[in-house]
Amino acid sequence: MTVKTLQDLLDEGVDGRHVLVRSDFNVPLNDAGEITDPGRITASLPTLQALVEGGAKVIVMAHLGRPKGEVNARYSLAPVAEALSEALGQYVALAGDVVGEDAHERANGLTEGDVLLLENVRFDARETSKDEAERGEFADQLVELAADNGAFVSDGFGVVHRAQASVYDVAKRLPAYAGKLVEKEISVLEKTAVNPESPYVVILGGSKVSDKLGVIEALAGKADKIIIGGGMCYTFLAAQGYNTQKSLLQEEMIDTCRDLLERFGDKIVLPVDLVAAAEFSADSEHKVVALDGIPEGWLSPDIGPDSVEKFAEVIATSKTVFWNGPMGVFEMAPFSQGTKGVAQAIIDATADNGSFSVVGGGDSAASVRVLGLKEDGFSHISTGGGASLEFLEGKELPGVSVLDR
Ligand code: AMP
Repeated sequence: MTVKTLQDLLDEGVDGRHVLVRSDFNVPLNDAGEITDPGRITASLPTLQALVEGGAKVIVMAHLGRPKGEVNARYSLAPVAEALSEALGQYVALAGDVVGEDAHERANGLTEGDVLLLENVRFDARETSKDEAERGEFADQLVELAADNGAFVSDGFGVVHRAQASVYDVAKRLPAYAGKLVEKEISVLEKTAVNPESPYVVILGGSKVSDKLGVIEALAGKADKIIIGGGMCYTFLAAQGYNTQKSLLQEEMIDTCRDLLERFGDKIVLPVDLVAAAEFSADSEHKVVALDGIPEGWLSPDIGPDSVEKFAEVIATSKTVFWNGPMGVFEMAPFSQGTKGVAQAIIDATADNGSFSVVGGGDSAASVRVLGLKEDGFSHISTGGGASLEFLEGKELPGVSVLDR
């Protein structure tokens, strides 16, 4: 990366300067509004701590969920402010708005080493607007909070694939630097994207096929095997003629999946058995079935044990592994075995075969922690799902290229 980094900013000196930081605090919440996995908060700490120690007046911008441009208490960053205060070991104030009076007053009142969190930037529709002028106007207002001599640090790796106001337009308006997290993520993913040691095994899961077809296409040339599980495998199974009953299915993608199977069939590895459940619920009746054995009206929330074994055999031979997307509905205990088994196989390949293993994505990373697996069993757990996928696909990340000037 030829971009300026946080170290460059620290060398220039931040004492008494307002520094706007874009972090990724899009953490999973349960129905009670409690954070179920603080991984992204933990990952933001090195950058924030360095700025606090340097005496900066830190203003953090972040989003949570999809409030669609409207103020919605459900998506308030209040639980994040509390968790961040605890993790940083100092009080982090939450502004009552994003660029309003309260944010201004609090930003003006900051002293050296203070941290202020703005409310969810997506409470303002201009944050994600496609119209550059609208985004620019919002970015101007964010930049105003940083007064004279301000700086911007981009540290929300999970959002650098988006040309949004707090990620992209702010970076154009202030001296801009890559934070420690963004710097680390890019350098690790570069290792996977450029010259991965083979055998290179890519494991894809999660719910949406359409999001990941581009990755299959882009990685088919580099990867030796592409394992497909999770909600996205049923569209491939349907393309092979199986009746997937009420399992997740993207019908409009069946033809594309058939085409991918024709072209890359020797690389694509699909499940050989499934778990079938009568209903989408943790206490539903369920059983292991063959691919053609999902009872009428049932659905499949997980891959079966033989699939795990087959996938594990492939993973065991790998020298590079990239995993994005859970193998099943891991949030429900009876359907977490596929994800757990595959994750354990990756941990084993890392330990026993010296495989370089990267977990990409909010859900996969969360599943590792939620299922109680050893985080340090992987070479790297990325905080960005979409961003890591787009990087591996070779797409430009606007939030990173904007720093390159
Ligand atoms: P994504 O956001 O595309 O990575 O998808 C993650 C979500 O996919 C998780 O919340 C899983 O519960 C869900 N998922 C994985 N496998 C299945 C499945 N077989 N049926 C329904 N949802 C699934």
